[in-house]
Amino acid sequence: MNHLPPARRSRVLHRSSRTLPPRAIGGHGAWLVEEGGREVLDASGGAAVSCLGHQHPRVVAAVQRQAGQLCYAHTSFFTTEAAEALAEELVGHEPGGLAQAYVVSGGSEAVEAALKLARQYFVETGEPQRSRIIARRQSYHGNTLGALAAGGNAWRRAPYAPLLSDAFSHVSPAFAYREQRPEEDEAAFTARLAAELEAEFQRLGPRTVAAFIAEPVVGATAGCVPAPAGYFRAVREICDRHGALLILDEVMSGMGRTGTLHAWEQEGIAPDLQAIAKGLGGGYQPIGAVLVSGRIVDAVERGSGAFQHGHTYLAHAVACAAALEVQRVIREERLLDTVVAMGERLERRLVERFGNHHHVGDIRGRGLFRAIELVADRGGKTPFDPAHRLHARIKAEAFARGLACYPGGGTIDGQRGDHVLLAPPYIVRPVEIDLIVDRLGEAVDAAI
Ligand code: PLP
Repeated sequence: MNHLPPARRSRVLHRSSRTLPPRAIGGHGAWLVEEGGREVLDASGGAAVSCLGHQHPRVVAAVQRQAGQLCYAHTSFFTTEAAEALAEELVGHEPGGLAQAYVVSGGSEAVEAALKLARQYFVETGEPQRSRIIARRQSYHGNTLGALAAGGNAWRRAPYAPLLSDAFSHVSPAFAYREQRPEEDEAAFTARLAAELEAEFQRLGPRTVAAFIAEPVVGATAGCVPAPAGYFRAVREICDRHGALLILDEVMSGMGRTGTLHAWEQEGIAPDLQAIAKGLGGGYQPIGAVLVSGRIVDAVERGSGAFQHGHTYLAHAVACAAALEVQRVIREERLLDTVVAMGERLERRLVERFGNHHHVGDIRGRGLFRAIELVADRGGKTPFDPAHRLHARIKAEAFARGLACYPGGGTIDGQRGDHVLLAPPYIVRPVEIDLIVDRLGEAVDAAI
């Protein structure tokens, strides 16, 4: 077997067909333990997943309890105590009018379900011509075909383009660092984006649009990009005026990551449908959900009476029990306060370390969801040559220093801005925040 390339020495088809990742054998708090015993500081929770860190005793006990009692019951026959309690925890107080939760196995599934629910809402309410979805360039909504069609990440879409539905169209991202013009202030930038969205409704025919979908804080594609002030209020107003639904994809930014349970709470609006996943189960089980507004629930109930969409593992009992405990820990231990405090520390330390760095053009994000963007030339915001693969080099240099962070090369209308995304767990300690920034600083300097 040894003549085979490293990844072929494993029967797992890994992400890379050329390299074999090291084995993780344990974890505790913000740390992962590698085979051989080396400890790696998990500065991004994988892809903003591990919100409580690793091996949280309460969540491990909840998983064991549920597994000992009942692992699985098909949702066409039964509901479970775990599913009911989780939904009550999520929408029992009807945040922003979201009244019920449809529980699936992950983020892409949640986005697919949200898109289909949006479409079904209009079939139920006598507007079957509404079949268009407007999304944004430089967004990521998942890798299944519907979610990929919604996403605006050119390189992820390219190989599968012939399979992607043309029901989706894309408008500009609300990305101030890259898109705001020198002569524009924030209000003018927001107004231009709103005018572009309005024009897209008009181009398609407003009564053909079912929904607009966006990430409140863009995650993987561009690295922790919040929208300018007032953007989401303008978007909500345009959707309402045209009778379209607003889907917010909080798969990455949701469940406390930005300092409020839902990122939309900071925008003064609420969505009609919201996809959540990563911070819902914190990596203890694969789980996602769509939070559904009362008016959509009512329309389905008055209409056909069933959401025509079902997966075998809907509302899996062990996954629900894990997510319920994760959410209870966040609430009972007031971890949103920690996210705000540690997020401020992280921002402060990043500004101290990189604020005057020749190759760091932007430091951005909210709560414990922060990124730096690397540029060849700070003044001109010129990205590094993609051939340099800077984000991959930073990842390798950081990993060699015992730091797991989440770099990306955002493809933005031909421009490529390398970034590094940080999303440590909500239980991160101040000394670990400092270590993250110190190790990242060394890695960036070594990689450039
Ligand atoms: N939506 C957003 C905003 C995401 O960041 C992701 C994953 O990174 C997804 C959807 C897809 O989630 P999953 O990988 O769990 O399918």
